[in-house]
Amino acid sequence: MYEKERNELVDLLKKKGIKDEKVLTAINNIERHLFIPDAIGYHAYKDTALPIGYGQTISQPYTVALMTEYLKLSPNDKVLEIGTGSGYQAAILNFMGIKVYSIERNFDIYSRTQKLFDKMGIRAVLRCGDGTLGWSEFAPYNGIIVTAGSPDIPKNLKNQLVANGRLVIPVGDKRTQTLKVLTKIDEENFNIESIPSFAFVPLIGKQGWKEGQL
Ligand code: SAM
Repeated sequence: MYEKERNELVDLLKKKGIKDEKVLTAINNIERHLFIPDAIGYHAYKDTALPIGYGQTISQPYTVALMTEYLKLSPNDKVLEIGTGSGYQAAILNFMGIKVYSIERNFDIYSRTQKLFDKMGIRAVLRCGDGTLGWSEFAPYNGIIVTAGSPDIPKNLKNQLVANGRLVIPVGDKRTQTLKVLTKIDEENFNIESIPSFAFVPLIGKQGWKEGQL
């Protein structure tokens, strides 16, 4: 189903500058319409963010592709995702042969996505909790991807990366953010790249936005 639309989406992402064949192949194979409400399924292959309920969104395919490309992963790498949401980003990583650990703070979203993964046979380790604190039990990670906008870079996430590991995180105010790509040199030093103009829902937690600030 929707094969032609998926091919067209992949062509569009190539035109927009996505080059990593592993990422493009994953986008071509993962059926995005299965991760959104049935009623809007026909919008699934447009390059836009879409509502998934509870005031949350599935990210724009270009954003998913770009963030995944910036992680510069190899099969069997271990990635921590903060903000499981619909599970689409985790499914893309899983398709690429990545070991995925993902945290979602909203219990209803977490349990719905866990059920979907069970049904689809997607093997990712999901947890409900505050992802701003990371997940020390399985650390360190080759990559950490944060799919909600943060006022700052949570220090736990920096600590839980391997040397040369990458953290991709939108940082800014509640409306617009800059995508920060940090590459860990050592415990103190990071190389930082910045890509402007993104708009994510807020990252809410101990090292993110506080409920009262929203
Ligand atoms: N990656 C998701 C996908 O593929 O659909 C998109 C996620 S959506 C843009 C952001 C998600 O982050 C929301 O589901 C929200 O509940 C979650 N979130 C916000 N703050 C969080 C936190 N501190 N820890 C874990 N999840 C959080």
